[in-house]
Amino acid sequence: MSSDTHVYSYSAVLMGSPILLKLFDHNEALAGAVFRVIKQQEILLTVNRPQSEVMSVNHAAGVEPVVVSQPVFDLIARARAVSVLPESLFNVTIGPLVKRWKIGFHGDSVPPAEELQALLPLTNPQQVILDPAARSVFLPQRGMEIDLGAIAKGYIADRVRDFLRQQGVEHALINLGGNVQTLGGTPDSEAPGWGIGLKKPFGAPEELIGVITVSGKSVVTSGVYERYFELAGKRYHHILDPASGYPLDNELLSVTVISEDSIDGDIYTTLLYGMGVKKGLDYLANTPEIEAVFVTRDRQVICSSQRQFSFTLLDADFHAV
Ligand code: ADP
Ligand code: MG
Ligand code: MG
Repeated sequence: MSSDTHVYSYSAVLMGSPILLKLFDHNEALAGAVFRVIKQQEILLTVNRPQSEVMSVNHAAGVEPVVVSQPVFDLIARARAVSVLPESLFNVTIGPLVKRWKIGFHGDSVPPAEELQALLPLTNPQQVILDPAARSVFLPQRGMEIDLGAIAKGYIADRVRDFLRQQGVEHALINLGGNVQTLGGTPDSEAPGWGIGLKKPFGAPEELIGVITVSGKSVVTSGVYERYFELAGKRYHHILDPASGYPLDNELLSVTVISEDSIDGDIYTTLLYGMGVKKGLDYLANTPEIEAVFVTRDRQVICSSQRQFSFTLLDADFHAV
């Protein structure tokens, strides 16, 4: 960076993740306000606390519809719509399976097959009843649970971007632990893009496969190495296949999505995970607003068209194709 551009980094731990904010002004008060925006949103959406708007819906499953705020209603509606797409891996009603596996939380274990089988009928997203006029959400079976874990961080990253824009900020980066959203590029004319590291799966935190460079875009990565546990030499990671009830097993180690809105990044990482590389690339060829970088178990790094980003490979053990 040239000498007149100084980056100020602010960090916090929120939503169980390390949060990093980068600004080009020294502004503690603004950083504090950003962290408050994140907390306010988490309080509405989380399923990792006893109380939230989403938990109120879950507690009333099989009993009655629950009225939620308009943003939460819209988010659940979006998550439901994505869940009912043909062959979608994304499932907004995955909650009972997530809670049973507890992957990445204390007490994670491989549940007996018959227990998982018994939970599958509680994970049908078609059954979520939305009433836009009443702004209510109803889960008709007792035991059904909404889980917004695959979409909430993206949604919140966009709210942070909107907030910073309202405050007149032109250049900033927010990283919500795997979900990065940027405002503009950096003010440095020599290096105007934000370089965002693509982590080496199962490597040390600072080990990178390469760098994705963007301006004013979101970069979201979902990987099997983010949250998992090992038992008898087998790894169980946190992206579950709603068809089987088990972690999804395919050729992928991670999917990174580059898009305007981070909510799309969060949704599409999950959808593309389910599609795999071949179907995923076919899909992206007809969806120019969404771009992706796939990392496979055989150490290939496969990029879509690179109109919205550029990729630099750093690790010679991986091959860019
Ligand atoms: P992270 O950013 O924590 O890696 P992801 O965006 O990859 O999260 O989403 C994973 C989380 O989403 C899980 O921790 C769980 O709460 C939830 N989840 C797991 N499987 C699915 C699925 N098939 N559909 C929707 N949500 C899921
Ligand atoms: Mg996601
Ligand atoms: Mg995510």
